[in-house]
Amino acid sequence: THRSPRILQYGRMPLPALDHELAAQFDVTVLSEQPDRAGFLAAHGADFECVVTSAAMGLPGDVVRALPRLRFVSSFGVGFDALDQAALLECGARVGYTPGVLDDCVADMAFALLLDAARSLSAADRFVRRGDWSRQRFGVHTRASGKRLGIFGMGRIGAAVARRAAGFDMQVAYHNRRPVEGSPHQYLPSLMELARWADFLVITAAGGDSTRHLVNAEVLDALGPQGFLVNVARGSVVDEAALAAALQQQRIAGAGLDVFEDEPHPLPALLALDNVVLAPHIASGTQETRRAMADLVLQNLHSCLATGAPVQEVPWSAAAARQ
Ligand code: NDP
Repeated sequence: THRSPRILQYGRMPLPALDHELAAQFDVTVLSEQPDRAGFLAAHGADFECVVTSAAMGLPGDVVRALPRLRFVSSFGVGFDALDQAALLECGARVGYTPGVLDDCVADMAFALLLDAARSLSAADRFVRRGDWSRQRFGVHTRASGKRLGIFGMGRIGAAVARRAAGFDMQVAYHNRRPVEGSPHQYLPSLMELARWADFLVITAAGGDSTRHLVNAEVLDALGPQGFLVNVARGSVVDEAALAAALQQQRIAGAGLDVFEDEPHPLPALLALDNVVLAPHIASGTQETRRAMADLVLQNLHSCLATGAPVQEVPWSAAAARQ
C-alpha cells in the first residue's frame, strides 16, 4: 500500500471512527482546525493531491483553486450539490462519493417521517409528556396504508421508498426528468401532476440548481389540504417559506422534514407548528450505514492512489474522465 500520502481533510467527518482511521492510514491535516485557513492554504495548498470531505460540508471553489496539485476528492455522502463542480472539472480532479450503501436507511427515514406526520406521532408524544392525556382526547389523524405515494426523484433512494410502499399497500407514481426504463411504477410527466395525484409526496430528487424551489406554493396547493409532504433530499428543493405558510394555513395537512434550506437553522415559523415533524438531517445517520459510508470513503481514496480513479465516482467526474 501507500507510504502515508498527505491528505487535506476539509473538516471533522460525520463518523468519529473515520477521523481516526484517516489519521492512522494517512498524513492528515484537518483544514477546519487551522487557525488561519486562508494563510494555511496559501502556504501549503500545493502539498496536497487528495481531499476528504462530506456531502454536508461540501468543497467550495476557493479551496479547490488553492490546491494546484489536487487530483482526488473522496466525499462522505451521495449528494454533490455542495461540491463546486465547475472548479473541480476545471482542475480535472476525480471525485468519489458513497452512493447505494445509504438507500435503505434514508428510505426508512422517509417512511418514519411519513408515518409520524400522518399519525401525529411526535405531537402525540408531546401530548403525553405534557400530561394532557388525563385531561382531553388526542383526536384522530390520517391513514397512510393504501394511499397514493408520489415520489419526486425515482433514483436509488426513491426506488427504496417505493419498495417500502408495497408493504403499506400504497399505489406509487413518480416524476423525474426522464422516465426510468423498466420501472413498474406510473410515470407522471410533471411535478404538478404528481402533487395533484398524490396523498403523500416524498422528495428524493438531487439538490442543486436544477431542482431549486421546484416544490413551491403552486405545487403545495396541488398536493392540497389532505396531502402530506416528506423531504429527505435537500432543503433547497422546497421553498421553505411557502411550505411554512401552507402548513400554517392548513393548505396542506402536514409535513416531515429531514433537510432545510439553511441548516442548521429551520425557518422559525416551522418550530411553532404541530403539523410538521422536524429532524436534524439524520436520514443516513445509523451506525451501520455511516460505517458502510466510511468504508467506501476509504476504499475510494485507496483506489484513487492505486489506480487513479475512485471505485464510485460522481457522474460528471466520470463523464469528464471518459473524454
Ligand atoms: P440518484 O441520482 O439515484 O437519484 C436522483 C433522482 O433525482 C433521479 O431519479 C433523477 O432523475 C432525479 N432528478 C434529478 N434532478 C432532477 C430534476 N431537475 N427534476 C426531476 N428529477 C430530478 O440519487 P440518490 O437516490 O442516491 O440520492 C438522492 C438525493 O438524496 C441525493 O442527491 C442527496 O441530496 C439526498 N440524500 C439525503 C440524505 C439525508 O441525509 N437526508 C442522505 C442521502 C442522500 P432524472 O435525472 O431523470 O431527472
